[in-house]
Amino acid sequence: MSLLEASREQLRRIPFLSRRRLGHFIDGRVHDPVGGAYLPVVDPATELLIAEAADGSAADVDAAVASARATFESRSWKSLRPADREAMLYRLSELVAANGDELSALETLQGGKLREVARRIDVGGGAELVRYMAGWATKLEGQTLDNSISIPGPQWLTYTRREPVGVSAAIVPWNFPLAIALWKIAPALAAGCTVVLKPSEQTPLTALRLAELVMEAGFPGGAVNVVTGTGATAGAALAAHPGIAKVSFTGSTATGKRVGHAAVDNMTRFTLELGGKSPAIVLEDADLDQVAQGICTGIFFHQGQVCTASSRLLVQRPVYGRLLDKLARAARSMRIGSGFDPQTELGPLVSRRHFDRVMDYIDEARAEGATVVTGGRRALEGGWFVEPTIFADAPARAAVVREEVFGPVLVATPFDEVDEAVERANDTPYGLAASVWTRSLSAAHRIVPRLQAGTVWVNAHNVLDNALPLGGYKQSGTGRDLGRAAVEGFTELKSVCMAV
Ligand code: NDP
Repeated sequence: MSLLEASREQLRRIPFLSRRRLGHFIDGRVHDPVGGAYLPVVDPATELLIAEAADGSAADVDAAVASARATFESRSWKSLRPADREAMLYRLSELVAANGDELSALETLQGGKLREVARRIDVGGGAELVRYMAGWATKLEGQTLDNSISIPGPQWLTYTRREPVGVSAAIVPWNFPLAIALWKIAPALAAGCTVVLKPSEQTPLTALRLAELVMEAGFPGGAVNVVTGTGATAGAALAAHPGIAKVSFTGSTATGKRVGHAAVDNMTRFTLELGGKSPAIVLEDADLDQVAQGICTGIFFHQGQVCTASSRLLVQRPVYGRLLDKLARAARSMRIGSGFDPQTELGPLVSRRHFDRVMDYIDEARAEGATVVTGGRRALEGGWFVEPTIFADAPARAAVVREEVFGPVLVATPFDEVDEAVERANDTPYGLAASVWTRSLSAAHRIVPRLQAGTVWVNAHNVLDNALPLGGYKQSGTGRDLGRAAVEGFTELKSVCMAV
């Protein structure tokens, strides 16, 4: 079956797409956009038009925020017990898993993601995350504190309590549209907030389907609203909206800064999970087969469109050549094709615009004198496929070394001393993640505290857990997704001081 036939076949099978024109989801039902305009949603493997989604305006954002606010302030929402929200989140987790076939097909159609990855990460991981966050609904707590208040007279009772911050905005990117939407929505609901979600204009489908499942799980209309459309219009209007108490954003550092600036004007709280240029440091005693496999996953998983991708490889000189050979062999053997083909290991990039961007980095790296170890070209015709690419000898100042490419592009550099590796690893404005590869526990323990990164893996890369907070040092963001930190990020901490 050709790529096009495979996509057409999937399109026919998904009832959700029989509508073709998809409106916003506001106050529990589908709304046509105020301006009447729609944007195309395209399959990046074939350029087939899959659907059209509403092109949201500031007026649509106003309506969604009003709905989320009315729900948040309603007596029925306030009277929900934590155990009620917990039960609804458990139900949502079950619904995400039960609708996994459809959700994963939508992810593959709109983003080119391998179906297996969509099933495992977006659906399976997403359902688990919702279950994990459900548990937090009943476990948020304040503290009673001993105090030293010296005002004579009464005794003093001092304690803190956590309260939901209010209406929250979730602005999410195209690389893991369902999973990252759930990373924001689930802790927000667990904390007692209501949400307006803005998915990327390139990948709005699973967000819209998810909003229906949230209702089916028992949440009231208005608990989760979805406004689709462009970042420049709908996203910007949401980030700057005075009715939003907290914005949780994942995407590029440049856009994250814009979101942060807009939020600060209203003193809206914000969590920004931004870009990365994550180093992997390989010491000479590492198990090279394990490293080759781990780094291949680290950089080529989801075509390198992963914020924590191991895009900078630093290898101790005695094993540099051997490791590059292994990596090149592994990269050349990767099967490129449609995400619907179970044999495929590398699918298309998300869009033509992104493909052009990645190819520009590759061309520029060549022009700057970097050596192509393997790859570096377009693969297949028709969709936005790029060969898994490895560069060596790239100058330290080259864009491919310093900037987030967000594609299947690895830059390898040798080093002699560990101090040099750590210095190079930290020589970046980013600080999202890093990995260290060695058989020596002592060496690993000595290096981990020196790396300026929100997550450090040892003998692994790109391994996430719902309980482990994820976020960046430096320009990779502020605040944390996942873990207890994420749910607490949707709360205010109130101090109570009572004269008894
Ligand atoms: P953006 O950071 O621009 O987009 C992320 C999200 O923000 C999308 O929903 C986008 O909507 C929205 N957005 C865009 N502009 C604004 C704005 N002014 N105000 C509020 N929201 C906005 O990423 P791109 O899609 O443009 O990708 C560019 C680069 O960003 C990638 O090549 C990669 O380097 C990086 N990136 C990093 C990600 C990560 O996980 N850290 C994820 C995605 C991208 P819309 O898509 O509709 O414009």
